[in-house]
Amino acid sequence: MSEWRKYIRKVTPYTPGEQPNKPNMVKLNTNECPYPPSPKVDEIMKSFNTDLLRLYPSPDVGPLVKAIAAYHNVDENQVFVGVGSDDVIGMAFLTFFNSKKPILFPDITYSFYDVWADLFRIPYKTIPVDDNFEINPKDYNIENGGVIIANPNAPTAIEMPLAAIEELIKANQDSIVIVDEAYVDFGTVSALELIDKYENLLITRTFSKSRAMAGARIGFAIGSEELISAMQSVKFAYNSYTMNQPAILAGVEAINDDAYFREIRDKIVKTREHAKLRLAELGFEGTNSMTNFLFVTHKEVDAKDILEYLKSKDIYVRYWNKPRINNYLRISIGTDEEMEKLYSALEEFLSE
Ligand code: PMP
Repeated sequence: MSEWRKYIRKVTPYTPGEQPNKPNMVKLNTNECPYPPSPKVDEIMKSFNTDLLRLYPSPDVGPLVKAIAAYHNVDENQVFVGVGSDDVIGMAFLTFFNSKKPILFPDITYSFYDVWADLFRIPYKTIPVDDNFEINPKDYNIENGGVIIANPNAPTAIEMPLAAIEELIKANQDSIVIVDEAYVDFGTVSALELIDKYENLLITRTFSKSRAMAGARIGFAIGSEELISAMQSVKFAYNSYTMNQPAILAGVEAINDDAYFREIRDKIVKTREHAKLRLAELGFEGTNSMTNFLFVTHKEVDAKDILEYLKSKDIYVRYWNKPRINNYLRISIGTDEEMEKLYSALEEFLSE
């Protein structure tokens, strides 16, 4: 073997959900928003001055940071913006998780956490969720080099009450605790109100789900000035210009259109609650989702068989062949019309 081959970094990459592009497909596999972004985003994109592409964007992503800070009522130096929350969380791992002690996260959670840990050579330990897939904060009262919790968790869709999140942060004040709030807008109480109380807390959010902008790649973190400034330094040591001009402008319009945000979020929550009932009628059991997706298992039929049947009908949902969850499906909430197509297909398959 050539010497250089030994020195290639070996990683097991994250596997994103597939992105098929068929005319009449029902795509419920990657938790995208089924509605378009705000009409204000449409307007700004249509009037985009391409001369802006000649220039580098502002390295501090000023306009977007300003809009996010104002919306969340925090200081501008408490906000970090990145290329989706994947970029933001990855940057946070690189910045904060440099102890020799293992970082902690649940055994069932966002499957990118262990990928970043491996990439950055961060030791980690997974903490099993209980039989109902719930996270017990007391399980995190062990020595660690940091903690990351998705709240609500994914793919389980379960919310952890704010008191439990606070208990976990309080017991871990020698570590940075990251709360990944990718799905918080669909009904979970945010840990944002704890930001000024705990300087070791970092919250990450995304425009990909509730703001219908997965394709723009905008994510952000809110934390103490000290944490944000540490992340900025690491970012500027790697790539100063992460956000592109159109995304910055579109992001500002999206966050400023609160009425539209509420409208589509409420529609998704309403469809979700109806979906819980419909799927229960079809023999599914699931967690009490507080997100824009459901995590369900059928009492009699294998998840994999359902997955394959739905795929044959161009209906895409997500499945993981992983311990504890290999008989579950994760179904993103679509429009009412898309969900009706799902129910009909399921009815057809299950009655066979
Ligand atoms: N956190 C969780 C829990 C997620 O499910 C996702 C979406 N895959 C992300 C973060 C990243 O989303 P994005 O990079 O689109 O902001």
